[in-house]
Amino acid sequence: MFKPVSPNLHINQMEEGILRFWRHNQIFEKTNELCKGSPEYVFFERPISARNQPDVNHVLGRAIKDMFLRYRTMNGYHVVRRAGWDAHGPPIELKVERQLGLNSKQQIEGYGIATFNELCWHSALEFILDWERLTERIAYWVDLDNAYITYTNDTIESVWWLLKNLWDKGLLYQAFKVVPYCPRCGTPLSYHEVAQSYKKTEGLSVFFRLPLVDDPSTSLLIWTAKPWTLPGSVAVAVHPDKDYIIIERDQSEGGRERLILAKDCVATVFKDEPVELGETFKGKKLRGLQYRPLFTFLVPDKPAHYIVLDEFVDTNRGSGLAHISPAFNTQDFKVLMDCGLPILQTIAEDGTFLPEFRPWSGKFFKDADPLIIRDLEARGLLFRLETIDQSYPYCWHCNTALLYLARETWSLRTTQYQDRMIALNQNTNWHPDGNIKEHFDYQLKSDQDWALGRERYWGIPLPVWDCKSCHHQLAVGSMTELNHLSGRDLHELDLHRPYIDEVLISCPKCKGQMERVKEIADGWLETGLASVAQWHFPFEGEDIFKSQYPADFICETSDQTRSWLYSLHVLSTLVFDSEAFRNVVCLGSIRDNEGRKIAEVSGNEFSPWEIINFHGADAFRWYLYSTNRPNQDCRLSADLVGEVVRKFTLPLWNVYSFFITNTNLDQWIPPSEHSPFGSEAYPLNNLDRWVISELNLLVKDVTSAYGNFDSIGATQPIQAFMDIFSNWYLRRSRRRFHKNKNRTDKQAAYITLYTTLLTLSKLLAPAMPLLAEELYQNLVRSVDQESKSSIHMLDWPRFKPNLIDEKHNQEMQLVKRLASLGHSARNRAGIKVRQPLSEAIFVVSSMDEMDCVKKHAEILTDELNVKRVEAFIPTGEEKVVEVIIDGQPYQIQTEGNDPDNFNPPKVVLASKGSYLVALNTELTADLIGEGFVRQLTREIQDLRKQAGLVIGEQIQIYYQAPAWTSVIIQEYHDQIMTETLAIDLHATIPPREAKTRTTVFNNEQVTLGLMKVT
Ligand SMILES: [Zn+2]
Ligand SMILES: [Zn+2]
Repeated sequence: MFKPVSPNLHINQMEEGILRFWRHNQIFEKTNELCKGSPEYVFFERPISARNQPDVNHVLGRAIKDMFLRYRTMNGYHVVRRAGWDAHGPPIELKVERQLGLNSKQQIEGYGIATFNELCWHSALEFILDWERLTERIAYWVDLDNAYITYTNDTIESVWWLLKNLWDKGLLYQAFKVVPYCPRCGTPLSYHEVAQSYKKTEGLSVFFRLPLVDDPSTSLLIWTAKPWTLPGSVAVAVHPDKDYIIIERDQSEGGRERLILAKDCVATVFKDEPVELGETFKGKKLRGLQYRPLFTFLVPDKPAHYIVLDEFVDTNRGSGLAHISPAFNTQDFKVLMDCGLPILQTIAEDGTFLPEFRPWSGKFFKDADPLIIRDLEARGLLFRLETIDQSYPYCWHCNTALLYLARETWSLRTTQYQDRMIALNQNTNWHPDGNIKEHFDYQLKSDQDWALGRERYWGIPLPVWDCKSCHHQLAVGSMTELNHLSGRDLHELDLHRPYIDEVLISCPKCKGQMERVKEIADGWLETGLASVAQWHFPFEGEDIFKSQYPADFICETSDQTRSWLYSLHVLSTLVFDSEAFRNVVCLGSIRDNEGRKIAEVSGNEFSPWEIINFHGADAFRWYLYSTNRPNQDCRLSADLVGEVVRKFTLPLWNVYSFFITNTNLDQWIPPSEHSPFGSEAYPLNNLDRWVISELNLLVKDVTSAYGNFDSIGATQPIQAFMDIFSNWYLRRSRRRFHKNKNRTDKQAAYITLYTTLLTLSKLLAPAMPLLAEELYQNLVRSVDQESKSSIHMLDWPRFKPNLIDEKHNQEMQLVKRLASLGHSARNRAGIKVRQPLSEAIFVVSSMDEMDCVKKHAEILTDELNVKRVEAFIPTGEEKVVEVIIDGQPYQIQTEGNDPDNFNPPKVVLASKGSYLVALNTELTADLIGEGFVRQLTREIQDLRKQAGLVIGEQIQIYYQAPAWTSVIIQEYHDQIMTETLAIDLHATIPPREAKTRTTVFNNEQVTLGLMKVT
């Protein structure tokens, strides 16, 4: 017998019970063990930063990963699911800085790097227990016991090996170049990480004059959005081949002036102002023309303040003349290299103006903008000032306005491998289909070298040593090498700063002293290398590394294309000449009720526990899978997840508890797997064959969706199936379970229900792993102790093509449609289903459909509670059918029929599309009597429930009724007794201890009483 099941599901109790069962029986470990030796399905888990509480977005990622991995396990693959913790990086440093009240690098160094890093180390995994608790509760199977952590010496050594490899290939280099720079963090950032940190702000649009040296009444008209770059300006660039023009205009303070600008800009700059157009010429004619320098705080060490030519100047923007500040702009820096211009550094490392720039000395660069504009205005150089919408980059760690700054930076020469990176990306399938792959291709096409040096503290130190005497540099790729070069045994050394900085090497060139460069590596480097470093490859774990590379599947939010996915792909191309992952599922982000992204910075984080504690993990997961395509943003609230419970979990549980209760009453146990399904022992009926056909179709569809990493396709069809299973198959089959004298038919119904429930559990296992396990433990384990101990160890179900009958499915579709039409006609007539009617006449559109109605007449008569059904097809041009209702012929126009205007007595119509039903509503005495019996039976069943009787318990019935009703009760005496499991019907006042109720039928009052037979 099955374990009895309560119709009320206590979700949290059930789920926690399963989690305990998994834990105590080590189901995860055993499932892995079982698959050892099977083909590997390779998965990379991105190391997670546990410096904060996990939020709902993390549930999304973990849920998606889990579903596809569980699916692969059920398909016979071995999956290594090793957790990882990302323990380095700016967010951890920032957290410690805030704790200590520090806000600059000087303060950190004053405090001491050793203690600072020690605190980072403690802080890195501060919330690891919360992460582990959530991971387990949402049933994400990952090996937490053997998780790797990125701050270990082994990880550092693997990363060093890689950097040395890149160094030997000439790909790791140091150069003076313009990079995005955070003045608060005091470090360069990479272009790809900055690309996602732009914010819309109000910016400035400034036009100003630069009078020519030889003719001060003529000025260059210049436009800028960054006034703070002007003190560092050394030249003006024009496009050599575009047209420029001199215009003449009145000045507001009197007199006339001449301005030079691009011809294309005249209309936008002067709008309606009448200006006199002068000479037009090509930009190259302006070459070398000198203008008066705007500021003279520093004297440049090379000739400056003249016009240079540059084809990148956009003559449709601003004035078509660009001022050149090589220290703050990549393009300007390139002009400097091409034209031999000087560079003027005006900003210190903390983002403030240097002391030489007296009026603004010590001011944060952006704060100097208004002062510089005021200065231009005072000197009569300001032409126009406006505000514009602008998008400006901010540090994604500390939210400080970034600047682009020329400085010595360590970079990876990724651009050298651009073509190869794009070619290898063609080996990767990006899911869902769409434009994410193209975006990534585009990103690779516009890639710039990866600025990976960070002038910070808590991260993997760059393994490059620099000679203080001859500036020879070398990279170290292993501990053995470092021991050898330093002449010390350093195996006990913490390889972090500041300890590693104290390791000195004697220069092989000049015997001078070599010191490590101060930079650490961008944190994305080590996460991109997690697949290598977690095995301490190449120093250990060669076999496992080789069996675990590249990944068959990874999953990340779309914005990781600029970080983790980028670093995985770049490093894999440069080091292994291979793609790093073959399938990637990209995720969107979760939004709150107002549609805002849920994120730390928005302050609208909500704890996943708010949902889990209410509705459990399975419904939460199901909601995430079935609502949106994974890459679309998804709204989330506890109420939305509650809908899943209401519409899916509970109906499924109801079917399950119905099945268990009934089979236990009959002491039914499932036949062994080997007995032929649908054999002569229990011939399936029409409905059974149909639901089995639909079930096999479902297995086919869901399997194909899993293969395509389609979470919606793997879940929504199950939900749709559940609806027809519960609301059609089971509803239509209920009587077969209760009052079925036909044993083989009952067997057929049980076996169909059992097969369907068990198959559904397997299909649900990857998505709702807890509920699926609960069902399996009872449906299989409680009757067969020899079976596998968990549903997650089972094979994925295979569909049987010979059981799929498309024609039958279509027929049932039509039957359901006609039934629903019949119900609308009943609604129109205001006659409840329990009142039998004599006939329903359907108008259908083909002979096949007519046959279908004939074939399934029993279902339709039963469903609509009519004595007979018939079908016609309209004939002739007019599409008219003649139906005979109650001996009376009616002509019904089927096209454009308006049921409201067709009201013959005793006939009610309903139509939809090309289908129509005519319902005979004439009530004979017999029909009324039958309706009464139905009502009576139902009232008695209600009383049974109220009295707390279980199915199968026998009762005595008492009634008091006027004459007409009494006669009917007598007439249907036997039927009432069978249906209600009564042993007698007494026409007397119910005893005092009986459960009673009074009901009205046909204006007559009937009193009912019920007693349990003891
Ligand atoms: Zn910053
Ligand atoms: Zn040297």
